[in-house]
Amino acid sequence: MTTRSETQTTLDHLLTEIEHRNPAQPEFHQAAHEVLETLAPVVAARPEYAEPGLIERLVEPERQVIFRVPWQDDQGRVRVNRGFRVEFNSALGPYKGGLRFHPSVNLGVIKFLGFEQIFKNALTGLGIGGGKGGSDFDPHGRSDAEVMRFCQSFMTELYRHIGEHTDVPAGDIGVGGREIGYLFGQYRRITNRWEAGVLTGKGRGWGGSLIRPEATGYGNVLFAAAMMRERGEDLEGQTAVVSGSGNVAIYTIEKLTALGANAVTCSDSSGYVVDEKGIDLDLLKQIKEVECGRVDAYAERRGASARFVPGGSVWDVPADLALPSATQNELDENAAATLIRNGVKAVSEGANMPTTPEAVHLLQQAGVAFGPGKAANAGGVAVSALEMAQNHARTSWTAARVEEELADIMTSIHTTCHETAERYGAPGDYVTGANIAGFERVADAMLAQGVI
Ligand code: NDP
Repeated sequence: MTTRSETQTTLDHLLTEIEHRNPAQPEFHQAAHEVLETLAPVVAARPEYAEPGLIERLVEPERQVIFRVPWQDDQGRVRVNRGFRVEFNSALGPYKGGLRFHPSVNLGVIKFLGFEQIFKNALTGLGIGGGKGGSDFDPHGRSDAEVMRFCQSFMTELYRHIGEHTDVPAGDIGVGGREIGYLFGQYRRITNRWEAGVLTGKGRGWGGSLIRPEATGYGNVLFAAAMMRERGEDLEGQTAVVSGSGNVAIYTIEKLTALGANAVTCSDSSGYVVDEKGIDLDLLKQIKEVECGRVDAYAERRGASARFVPGGSVWDVPADLALPSATQNELDENAAATLIRNGVKAVSEGANMPTTPEAVHLLQQAGVAFGPGKAANAGGVAVSALEMAQNHARTSWTAARVEEELADIMTSIHTTCHETAERYGAPGDYVTGANIAGFERVADAMLAQGVI
């Protein structure tokens, strides 16, 4: 029987090897550290997990595709972007994970997202493997026609790697309903197949699930509420700071408001808005979803209760709850210290890896309930899997049914993380609970399926 510290030494060697084999991928290194640094208790306790090659296979994607995406802008100039799809692990089901269109996208970013996705998808309890993709294309300021031509070119290569039983992409940063529509159209045209289950996040009239747009934000608030319940509190009357103003942020604010909390901020890459009266969601949706505007327009139109702070950190605003919902590493050690000073009780990650490792450590040391993204934001992919189920059965469920299933899944993820953390000697540590519970499910399937 190996001890925990011997196991940790082995995992540390593996982390050094991962850094060596995957140079210039800091986000992937960060995600691998975050998971492997919590696995020693389970690997030490269950000898089958120490089997040579198991974790080495887990950190190596099954397949990585990188491709050229040429397209013409409205002036007729040829532009060239890079497309990615990392098919990380299919032990539990077809690869599943979103597509991100943002200039910061590179292989390391997609690998970090794909790696996180393996454990997140396992935690949902549904039959979905982990993958992620995207491009360094920046949709900001592009016309609909340019976005359509880009999506068509992207799918012209991607289509050969995906399928309802193989790999099922969805949206992420920069990829919403419009992009999924163009991507699906091109897939259908190339394959001559109406294969609804090949993409999720589709429009409601053509195979999309009700509540899919809301699912990530709603799910994160349900997770935050479950963490608060463990502390003997609910969301009623709590002040919340939310970053971002895209899909996840908007529906986070909507659910917080519905449960009686006061969400007072939103942001984008230009700065943040603080609104003492609580964010007016109709106005925010009008500006972001209809006009594709910036958050400063919100402050201009809202009146005296709101102000726009260019640049700056949304985490400076005092609150009981913080729900980072924009992008990776947006909440650092300084921000965590400020939140703690201002009395934050819970931080729940709507975005993927928005909190730096140092900030996570600080928050946990201070006794703040911390919900890691792979658990807290799993509602989006869970409802995507429900969309696949509806597509397969050629049916469509009511919003109430989907929302009920989402609530059950989030409760179950919370319970699983909580109980697993306790079982492995880390009570209240949702990071450890989520990593170990996700790992156990994937590792068991990999062991059963042999060395592939
Ligand atoms: P959107 O594109 O709808 O919105 C992203 C928001 O974050 C925008 O307000 C954007 O501002 C801001 N943002 C993005 N990058 C940066 C940056 N580098 N600096 C500052 N602000 C930034 O994306 P989503 O809401 O879908 O995704 C948000 C996060 O949630 C991501 O981490 C994503 O991986 C994660 N997530 C999303 C899921 C989903 O179902 N959509 C599921 C699970 C996780 P601006 O417009 O100025 O760039």
